[in-house]
Amino acid sequence: MDGLQTPRGTKDILPQEQPYVDLVINSFRSVVESLGFQKIDTPTFEYRSVFVRSVGNESDIVEKELYQVQRLAGAEGSGSEAGRESTREPLVLRPEGTSAVARAYLEHGMQTWPQPVKLYYISSMFRYDRPQKGRYREHHQLGLELFGELGPHADATIMLAYWQFLSRIQLTDSIVFQVNSLGDETCRPRYRKKLKLYLESQRQHLCADCQRRLATNPLRVLDCKVESCREIASQAPVIIDELCLDCKNHLTTLLEYLDALKISYQLNPHLVRGLDYYRRTVFEVIDAYDAANQASISGGGRYDGLIKLLGGKDTPAVGTGIGIERIIDKLIERGIKPPVDTRPAISVIALGDKARIGALQVINQLAGTPYRLNFAFSKDSLKAQLKAAARERSMQAIIIGSRELFDQTVILRDMTTSLQHTVALAKLNQELVDRLLNYDPSQAPVAPIDPDDLAANPENPDNLLDPLTATTADAMSSAEERSPVETSRDSQSSSVSVSPEITSSESVSRFSIIFVNISRLTNTPRATVKLPLILAFHRSRQSPNISRRSNTKGIWIAKTIWLAQSN
Ligand SMILES: [Zn+2]
Ligand SMILES: [Zn+2]
Repeated sequence: MDGLQTPRGTKDILPQEQPYVDLVINSFRSVVESLGFQKIDTPTFEYRSVFVRSVGNESDIVEKELYQVQRLAGAEGSGSEAGRESTREPLVLRPEGTSAVARAYLEHGMQTWPQPVKLYYISSMFRYDRPQKGRYREHHQLGLELFGELGPHADATIMLAYWQFLSRIQLTDSIVFQVNSLGDETCRPRYRKKLKLYLESQRQHLCADCQRRLATNPLRVLDCKVESCREIASQAPVIIDELCLDCKNHLTTLLEYLDALKISYQLNPHLVRGLDYYRRTVFEVIDAYDAANQASISGGGRYDGLIKLLGGKDTPAVGTGIGIERIIDKLIERGIKPPVDTRPAISVIALGDKARIGALQVINQLAGTPYRLNFAFSKDSLKAQLKAAARERSMQAIIIGSRELFDQTVILRDMTTSLQHTVALAKLNQELVDRLLNYDPSQAPVAPIDPDDLAANPENPDNLLDPLTATTADAMSSAEERSPVETSRDSQSSSVSVSPEITSSESVSRFSIIFVNISRLTNTPRATVKLPLILAFHRSRQSPNISRRSNTKGIWIAKTIWLAQSN
């Protein structure tokens, strides 16, 4: 297996993890698009100077963490590519999003667009960093950038977008913004001088990197991860005491806005951000549950100096970058689950090799419809395939044998009632719409159905084929074994099986066994479930008509009801 694995510090995101990714990305998109942010994609790699100019030469990112892209000899082409390509300016994988988006802002003349220009991106970032928990060499980031607005309302816009996103995925309860101001050209030099003086006095305790940074950029010392340096940084003078009037006003106004928006924040005068281009507002998002680590989930701030660094005219800007992996870790820590797939499932079953043509026709016809199709083209018996369909939680099974293929029909089987009908292939889609139109997602089976648990309808002629048939007596006794209200909750599915007490036996006299699955419990997972269960249903040839009631605690009843006739 040499070489056949992901590179160190990277990971595959497998299908079972994708619902988390989707939850995060979809929530983010819906919030920021509603706020007028537009999507931008920049290349995965850029000229190195994009990051050297913006992030700064002495930053860890540029010094140690850049992945350089190697051009292979002869791959260059000729002619127009000349210029920078011929100078072999290094290409690097994008280590962060803001510089690349700012480069695009300049390159495409977005200064001439109506301001502010509000952009968002969802991209991979690459850093040659020591891999550790929650940190990957390729990670995925959500980013927001707002250009052309100087006032603190722009900062507030970014933070409220972030907050709304967190609230959408239920993460706000322990989240706090830590906020600071790094000042601007007016007040920062004054502070820098004062800081430098202090750091000089501690020089011998600083790490080698910081001793060097002292001359070039003393502010970076405050961001050093080395323990001794952090100690010194914690005692350093803070910029907030040195802010000029404009910067002070900017900060206090922003905090007023945050108060009004009820966004939790703390002022943290020791907060600095690792990148040179920040001005005034910087913030980090801290998980209060993880207070011991004061682990920053991500951060952002105002970078009014960036566009100028890249060669443009002074342009105010503010933004944030949010690590998707970090957010997913938080969701998992909190037990917040992505929504289950609520599309009704349909199994397509071919009986025999020839019928596969018909099955493929059906699949072709149903591709792109709002159902989840299950098909395996198995050689198994109908019985085994129906069991599989039940395991797949299919609501309907479409069965095709050679006769159906010849007639251009299918057998449509309602998996709940076991009733089957022959339907012309041409009318299949409409028939499915009719059957599944009033389908309630909360009725979607959330746990695999155990076919052995089901009692079939003896009236149904196809029961000769039916693997699910259990005698009424069997079903009766298994029902008696259950306590009247039996809950069994497994951590996977939060599903509960209940044999309800039926108070009015008259109304359901024809049906002695009723199993009810409860698809969703809110808040009270293990609480005694008392179900004022009122089932009103009548039987038609189509499917049972089941009324669904919820009790006052918000318990949804009757995901699936299985019926057996008593004699
Ligand atoms: Zn240091
Ligand atoms: Zn200032």
